[in-house]
Amino acid sequence: MKWQVIAGAGLVLSSCIAIAIIKLDPRDTEVWDPVPAVVTADPNQPPSDAVVLLGDTDDTFAWQAVSGGDMPWSVADGVLTVEPGTGDIRTREHFCDMQLHIEWRVPEPEPDMDGQARNNSGVFLQERYEIQVLDSWQNRTYSNGQAGAVYKQTMPLVNATRPPGQWQVYDIVYRAPRFESEQVIEPAHVTVLHNGVVIHHYTEIKGNTVFIGEPEYEAHTCAPLRLQDHRDRVSYRNIWVRPL
Ligand code: MG
Repeated sequence: MKWQVIAGAGLVLSSCIAIAIIKLDPRDTEVWDPVPAVVTADPNQPPSDAVVLLGDTDDTFAWQAVSGGDMPWSVADGVLTVEPGTGDIRTREHFCDMQLHIEWRVPEPEPDMDGQARNNSGVFLQERYEIQVLDSWQNRTYSNGQAGAVYKQTMPLVNATRPPGQWQVYDIVYRAPRFESEQVIEPAHVTVLHNGVVIHHYTEIKGNTVFIGEPEYEAHTCAPLRLQDHRDRVSYRNIWVRPL
């Protein structure tokens, strides 16, 4: 009788194992459809599916003055430079979630330049949320206003700024805020690499960039990328976006 019970239990157990083996077929978790699109990513070239906003020519059709009219900054050999006092520029195209690559360079500072006055500009995501551009090489200012800061909100994790005169790179992965009617239901988030170094890791953006007071959201749809004229001759090159 005792052996019969054990034999019966063994039969049940081996049946369970057999069922378990059938359920654990590795092919059950393979996904074959859809297939990711092929993107070519040659060294020092925009990915093949990127929207090129400034390439290696002087074509600036992608840009216009925020105040209306043609792009007023100077361009030569694929380098776009702020023409102080002409105002911000923005893309004609509107973007939501995106991967952004942008390179910038500040000139050697004048002797009296320091803090926020040392060659300031900015990359405004969706026209509203500024990733600060500033000569933060041996130049102390408030931490949430130095290069790479979500301006007046969140300081960069580290200061990866190169000396003036050298090209610097921002690679930005941006998730736009979500709104339901006029209310924000999910804030924007941003991941930023400065010269290949992570300085924001899915940082929450708290609202529109403001110089004075606390940031707040106001509902919007997809919007242009905007570059700031802070009356300093900051230059940009190799700008491209991959909408996500
Ligand atoms: Mg700025």
